[in-house]
Amino acid sequence: MGKKIIIIGGGVAGLSAGIYLQRNGYDTEILEMHRIAGGQCTAWERRGYRFDYCLHWLVGTAFGPFHDLWRETGVITDDTEIINHEVHTRIVDDNGEDFIVYTDIDRWEEYLIDLAPEDMKAIRKMCGHMRRGKGLLPFTNPPELRTAGDYLRGLKGILPALPMILRLNKKNCRDYFRNLGIRNPRISMFFETLYGARDFSAVVFVMMLTWFNQKNAGYLIGGSLPLAQRMAEKYRSLGGRFTGGTRVETIIVERDRAAGVRTVDGHTLRGDCIISAADGHATIFDMLGGKYLTERIREAYGNWGLFTPLVQVSFGIDRKGNSPCPVQTHMTRGRSIGSTPVDLGYSLTDYSFDPTMAPEGKSVMVMRFESPWDLWNDLEGEAYGEEKARIAADATALLESHHPGIGRHIEVTDVATPKTGVRHTGVWKGSYEGFMPSPRNYSSSIAMTLPGLDRFYMIGQWLYPGGGIPPAVQSGRWVAQLLCKNDGKKFLTPERG
Ligand SMILES: Cc1cc2nc3c(=O)[nH]c(=O)nc-3n(C[C@H](O)[C@H](O)[C@H](O)COP(=O)(O)OP(=O)(O)OC[C@H]3O[C@@H](n4cnc5c(N)ncnc54)[C@H](O)[C@@H]3O)c2cc1C
Repeated sequence: MGKKIIIIGGGVAGLSAGIYLQRNGYDTEILEMHRIAGGQCTAWERRGYRFDYCLHWLVGTAFGPFHDLWRETGVITDDTEIINHEVHTRIVDDNGEDFIVYTDIDRWEEYLIDLAPEDMKAIRKMCGHMRRGKGLLPFTNPPELRTAGDYLRGLKGILPALPMILRLNKKNCRDYFRNLGIRNPRISMFFETLYGARDFSAVVFVMMLTWFNQKNAGYLIGGSLPLAQRMAEKYRSLGGRFTGGTRVETIIVERDRAAGVRTVDGHTLRGDCIISAADGHATIFDMLGGKYLTERIREAYGNWGLFTPLVQVSFGIDRKGNSPCPVQTHMTRGRSIGSTPVDLGYSLTDYSFDPTMAPEGKSVMVMRFESPWDLWNDLEGEAYGEEKARIAADATALLESHHPGIGRHIEVTDVATPKTGVRHTGVWKGSYEGFMPSPRNYSSSIAMTLPGLDRFYMIGQWLYPGGGIPPAVQSGRWVAQLLCKNDGKKFLTPERG
């Protein structure tokens, strides 16, 4: 066997690193604190219903370097069924007025112009931006291994989009929507509340719609848990060892070289190289005691914004779903669910589009809303239980208001809070995609290595603002490429599924 590599964390990033390293002859072991693999890319079963926690859409379901990753890691195989929703979301306000975000740009443009002919010029401009990004593709190789050819190919894709990127580069969605000069109050209101309320990069927003339009950001039938299980299976089939129920407390460092790990139950494991695919903050500040920092890390963990954590209320319903579209976002003012004011609204997903989520003739509906970490940090014991009960009651009443009579059909109600995510995955402050991609950081990243610390790498969602499954899985491939390069090996990719 080759070098012994310890991977801390069996989320999608850790699984990816394990798959590529096993393929290249390394002897890896993944230490995961939870029983099962997948990290935040997960779901849970309750009385025959599956409640999905993560996957809404996955960039790269049709083509491009991310698609290659899915094929190589088992995320997508020839048997995987992929669907592309026609409607990204339907937003409804308290007065019952609605606003639809279509995934097809031509259709959305037509709809918006119908709604606001007076804004035709601004609408055409925005949709034009979304069409112009179509040649943009992520790099296949990590920065350290990119060739002139990689950059030339990248440039070819980026050129048509360059004027748009330069114009939008420093803007968040609110500035972008205002600069477009849309006058129609209904469109402005929906734009401002949906993405405009967050410091969310305009370029990232535009690119998201570009991917939907290209049908390259679909949903995989089965959702998050089967996705993670396919990766775990691929890892095991390549000889990898997955050890669940093992929480790492400390990374052992000897003479500025990572030499092993110590688990919370006192075991020591030694390795030739340590890769942390666990939460970024815990890795840097707890497992390594904050000894190896860079200016970028200080800036990121000190000043960059985070995704506000979510509360998820899942309902198992003993009748078929009949929602007009998969995801509806309800805008509302002055209302709370439990103790959380939901002025930015709450979403309701009817999972009827995925028949694997509920038994025949039944359905799953999931309500999600943002709930700041500060509301949860100190909530424990009875008070925590009471808050969950209040949330369940409020959410059920809201569901009933949208679907009168549904209350009689609810068989299971399950409340997952930001604390649930932190307990099962250790994710810092419940920020499920790490750093919010703002105009200041969306094109930045945190390096995989730390200055002065040898034989150590970090991977996963915390390296790239915006997070998500694609960059997390890509970082697993990249670390394997770097190790192969350092060891003078030709990098091999796993057999495609
Ligand atoms: C509600 C929700 C919706 C989302 N929607 C999407 C979406 O539609 N599309 C998309 O691309 N992404 C989505 N995401 C984000 C995506 O799930 C994450 O960005 C991605 O799964 C992160 O993977 P990761 O491996 O980097 O980190 P994680 O999933 O956080 O994995 C880290 C792993 O390390 C383990 N760990 C932590 N500390 C230790 C320790 N001390 N010892 C041992 N193990 C440890 C954890 O248990 C975990 O398994 C969503 C997430 C959520 C929660």
